Amino acid sequence: MTRWWLLCLVPLTATALDLAWPTDNDALRRGDLAAFYQPTAEGSIPSATFGCARRGGRRFHEGIDIRPLRRDKRGEALDEVRAVADGVVAFINAKSGLSNYGRYVVLAHRWDGVEVYTLYAHLADVAPGLNAGMAVTKNQRLGTLGRSTNYKEGIPRERAHLHFEVNFLLNTHFHIWYPRRDPKAPPFGNFNGLNLYGLDPAALLLAAGANPKLNFAEYAARQKIAFTVFVPAKPFPWLTLHPEQIQPAPKGVVAAYEIGATAWGTPIAVWPRSDTGGRRLPSVARVDESELARNGCRDLVQRDKRGWSLTEQGRQWLELLTYTP
Ligand SMILES: [Zn+2]
Repeated sequence: MTRWWLLCLVPLTATALDLAWPTDNDALRRGDLAAFYQPTAEGSIPSATFGCARRGGRRFHEGIDIRPLRRDKRGEALDEVRAVADGVVAFINAKSGLSNYGRYVVLAHRWDGVEVYTLYAHLADVAPGLNAGMAVTKNQRLGTLGRSTNYKEGIPRERAHLHFEVNFLLNTHFHIWYPRRDPKAPPFGNFNGLNLYGLDPAALLLAAGANPKLNFAEYAARQKIAFTVFVPAKPFPWLTLHPEQIQPAPKGVVAAYEIGATAWGTPIAVWPRSDTGGRRLPSVARVDESELARNGCRDLVQRDKRGWSLTEQGRQWLELLTYTP
């Protein structure tokens, strides 16, 4: 009886993802990449896109860099940066010098039952009165597009841009895990870029625009898994944060979890396994070599004579993903 009542409160049809563009620049919708993307000093459009796009594909870029449309007399950008969807302000860093993101705002959303975070970086200013914990509505102004950063060389005026990310939070205990490794950790709590693992925001904006019925949970589940890793069957925050990723459990005792992740480490699916196949845990189980060849610049897994294993970066990634204090 109680259960039936609860079901009545949950919408029976999944709500579609209703996304706005984070600035007035939506040239990507017309396929005008040059008008949309702001390249790095490298000068190539791919350097502004998500993924293994920088330094000839060797360096990862966690988001997309969007060009401004308006400038003042001195050439500073004027574009408003706005929430792409309803959400709650999760974090604001108003001190430019603390991060290579400069001033940045993180919003928390729940899209089709999935906890997602959008991040808006290099802001010239943060909208007055915006504070962590506040609810924001789609298209609400968050600040002004800019070029704030702690990079020594800075971002020149002509390359001002919005760095925009769509992320999952890897671990809710990051704020405990990280300061132990880096006592000089900036006071960003869980909202340090090192704890945010994302999807290509450009692909998502385009997919949501093309399909008004796009379901985010299904969209995320379709992301390419590049490798899987078996870990011991003990609880860790991801399992609670992302129940939508957990696949049906086998009969009998769960002996391990097999985590499937993108080439750059965003978990996409978790399979409870009753058998570890004689593996010592953790261990890499399955690998999509062509996907790793395309997007593997974060070097999380490697192959040697004995087969595939986690690299040092891969071990750190897994340690953070499965960390419980
Ligand atoms: Zn960027």
